[in-house]
Amino acid sequence: MNNFDTLGLSENLTSVLEKLGFEQPTEIQEQAIPQLLKNEATDFIGIAQTGTGKTAAYGLALLDLVDPEFKSPQALIMTPTRELGQQIAKQLVEFAANNKAINVEVVYGGAAISNQIRALKKPTQVIVATPGRLYDLIKRKAVNLSAIKYLVLDEADEMLNMGFKEAIDEILEYIPGDRAIWLFSATMPAGIRRIVKHYMDAPIEVSINTAERVNKDIEHQYVTTKTSNKIPALRRFLDLNSNMRGIMFCRTKRETQKIADELGNQGYGVEALHGDLSQGQRDAVMKRFKARAMQLLIATDVAARGIDVDNLTHVFHHTLPDQLESYTHRSGRTARAGKKGISLAFINPKEGNRIAELERKNKIKFTAVEVPSIEDLTSSRMHNWANLIANTKVDDQADTILEEVQGKFANLSKEDLLKRLITSQLDHILARNRGEANLNEPQGGRGDRDRGSRTEKAGHTRYFVNIGAIDGVTTGDLIHFLSDASNVERQYFSQVTMQRNYSFFYLDEKQENGFADRFKGIEIEGHAIRVNRDDQQNKPKSKGKYKKKKEHRRGAGRKSGRRRKGAQTV
Ligand code: AMP
Repeated sequence: MNNFDTLGLSENLTSVLEKLGFEQPTEIQEQAIPQLLKNEATDFIGIAQTGTGKTAAYGLALLDLVDPEFKSPQALIMTPTRELGQQIAKQLVEFAANNKAINVEVVYGGAAISNQIRALKKPTQVIVATPGRLYDLIKRKAVNLSAIKYLVLDEADEMLNMGFKEAIDEILEYIPGDRAIWLFSATMPAGIRRIVKHYMDAPIEVSINTAERVNKDIEHQYVTTKTSNKIPALRRFLDLNSNMRGIMFCRTKRETQKIADELGNQGYGVEALHGDLSQGQRDAVMKRFKARAMQLLIATDVAARGIDVDNLTHVFHHTLPDQLESYTHRSGRTARAGKKGISLAFINPKEGNRIAELERKNKIKFTAVEVPSIEDLTSSRMHNWANLIANTKVDDQADTILEEVQGKFANLSKEDLLKRLITSQLDHILARNRGEANLNEPQGGRGDRDRGSRTEKAGHTRYFVNIGAIDGVTTGDLIHFLSDASNVERQYFSQVTMQRNYSFFYLDEKQENGFADRFKGIEIEGHAIRVNRDDQQNKPKSKGKYKKKKEHRRGAGRKSGRRRKGAQTV
């Protein structure tokens, strides 16, 4: 067994590592640190991605190599994003707890340059910087790179992807020729090879087999569902496991914000992170995410680059990334530092081949999983609820309130009372899971079908009702109403698909006898309710006529006002 003492690090650092709980070096640390400490001018290439412990690999070596007595910058770490820069600086400051004379400064774009210029006036041994801002500071003569001995290019492939090639080239002009370059990159595209060839001298190369690492710690899963059902499906995963915490990746800024808004409005602890937010807003979101003030961060790939948050149980892919490499980057946000994690992709039936491609190219294996069923949710929720009730400490006011209300329950046995409480919980689950009961789709199907399209369901008949989303009801409300008006238990209704003005639902065949007739004569706020078996003539006849009614219905009171007398409230 190896530990940090055998890598050649000073006692100052190993004692800090012990305090931080770093027991064993990671593979990249084990391989890189002795090399980096050996020869000051050694050029080094580490092929390793975020999560492998590469920051500590170069950071610890740097802290032992720089001279605290010498007041000019000796080490420069270039990194693609502000977030990553801040995290690197934070780690270095932690590692340097016993080396108070070493000052680490971080500079990046999107923040006031004047503060950074002032900070750099202090004696500083290590600078962490994003390329654009550093170049700006060089031009303003606010930073002196003439004594740099170690240049670290961290996430070099990302820096090139982000268009920093020119800035890097320019900056290298200002750095002495006898410096060592340590380059860390998850991949080695041609652009990186050119940098290596141009600027580095016989580098030592260490490659951490990320595919194997990923395989070991991350469980790759996918579910097949319609695109329009991806969010309802995600909600079920969140509902089933309230302890899960993670990031969901989306492709566009708009989609990211829209999904975060939608989930937020439904009461989920989520926030969006994307490039349309100001730096201040992004910082605030990250702070809340790290403080565990939310369950899920909804982010674009660019915004989430370099995010270093431990203990994320899940990474979700609302849409798979275009580039296969991005999948590895995304999923690497979970299962960090030896922990296990799940990377779950939502794919529509047409995307099955992307999974096969990811498996082949990334040398990983995916497991197909099902979207939790309403029954799964019900069972989990009822268990949690029962535990909660059993473990609730009785409030001081409970006695007084009980005296006031117990008359209402006088005729109910304990069992009846419990059944009613359970029903109110069940209603909640139904209301939250509007739409189709089964969100799973077979692979290779027709893909995204219209939610209102006809699908056969054995032993069930499809019905039409002229109540729709415009009436401000949920599918849960609708089932309640149908059940109350027809005296058919709610369990016999399923697969409600709601359109703007009308809805379809399935009814168990055994309950069909006289079902539609029971709605005759029922009006809600002057609007005659019509229920029929589904056939073409059931569609609204005249759009103009219907529109008139719509306006009327829309103007009227929502949920409570439109319910038929005697209907239960969800
Ligand atoms: P990195 O790959 O540098 O982004 O590091 C990933 C995470 O692993 C960071 O939160 C580090 O603090 C943590 N870490 C790095 N090395 C070790 C280690 N040897 N033992 C425990 N945690 C580590």
